Amino acid sequence: MRIQSKGFAIFSKDGHFKPYDFSRHAVGTKDVLIDIHYAGICHSDIHSAYSEWREGIYPMVPGHEIAGVIKEVGKEVKKFKVGDVVGVGCFVNSCKTCKPCKEHQEQFCANHQTVFTYDCLDYFHDNEPHMGGYSNNIVVDENYVISVDKNAPLEKVAPLLCAGITTYSPLKFSKVTQGTKVGVAGFGGLGMMALKYAVALKAEVSVFARNESKKQDALNMGAKHFYSNPKECKEELDFIISTIPTSYNLKDYLNLLTYNGELALVGLPPREVAPTLNVFDFINLGNRKVYGSLIGGIKETQEMMDFSIKHNIYPEIELILGKDIDTAYHNLTHSKAKFRYVIDMKKSFD
Ligand code: NDP
Ligand code: ZN
Ligand code: ZN
Repeated sequence: MRIQSKGFAIFSKDGHFKPYDFSRHAVGTKDVLIDIHYAGICHSDIHSAYSEWREGIYPMVPGHEIAGVIKEVGKEVKKFKVGDVVGVGCFVNSCKTCKPCKEHQEQFCANHQTVFTYDCLDYFHDNEPHMGGYSNNIVVDENYVISVDKNAPLEKVAPLLCAGITTYSPLKFSKVTQGTKVGVAGFGGLGMMALKYAVALKAEVSVFARNESKKQDALNMGAKHFYSNPKECKEELDFIISTIPTSYNLKDYLNLLTYNGELALVGLPPREVAPTLNVFDFINLGNRKVYGSLIGGIKETQEMMDFSIKHNIYPEIELILGKDIDTAYHNLTHSKAKFRYVIDMKKSFD
């Protein structure tokens, strides 16, 4: 039996969010039905909703920072039981048999069967468009569900499912540790988490934002330096993570790296304004390494969740209702947002 859902959808790239009733595929033998309590708003939701990367699939119910409680389990579900607290991130299924899937990098499924949580077809359910977390429930294969300690603050857990893993993963990949000089470019939802993880790893962190208004927040969260213009920085950094979602000059950050330093790119600006680099910039500046990083696999997401809860690392959030999504998007694209908006889904349908 299909599951009835209520959510908030956008109907075209220049549209607005409206309440939307739809249905999801039935709870299969290995699926769980999750009652969604909270959904974070990631800047990727905005890029997708406004078709800034490619033409979106509409109606679109975004949301891939999902926290909730299990309401029903399929007959063969082993990991979870009704009442368990869980999270769902940026993808909900993949082939499970290819090399990346077997190596716990399901986001890169070689059979192109990673089912992203929204703005994507569900290859395992008749190619119907999958709907995301700005909704009251979701049905997910248990292998793509993250276990959450029942005592964790659930509204703050939600953003960990994307902002958390997307910043945790490259910090680990580049082996950031005590004393590493780290730069965090862009200080919003992702940037704040990158700073908090880097501080937990005992790195020395410089934050780069667009204006001075977030300086005190950065220092309060443990940053050592704050710059509103990368050209003012005289430090040599070992590792920089760029979370910037708009057009910018990548060379400004490459110039700050020490020789052999690493720059991880996670921010994905709209396609037509995405920054580029010249090959000479990499080599002439001293073998700087630049790499992209896309979220993280399920195994590492569980590791990130356990690490965050153990070390009490959570985002700064502002709770809103579903009716406020348009305003939140406006604020996030007009330098008026502070850190992460999280939608209180339970209160949004009263
Ligand atoms: P937010 O909007 O929460 O934060 C972005 C921050 O960057 C804001 O504080 C913004 O400042 C700042 N900023 C914008 N332009 C500049 C600039 N030129 N220089 C310095 N700072 C700037 O976005 P998120 O953190 O949610 O997402 C960031 C990016 O990461 C997005 O492009 C998103 O799509 C991408 N992303 C990528 C993932 C991956 O797996 N690779 C996963 C998740 C997100 P202001 O407040 O002034 O606007
Ligand atoms: Zn995201
Ligand atoms: Zn695969």
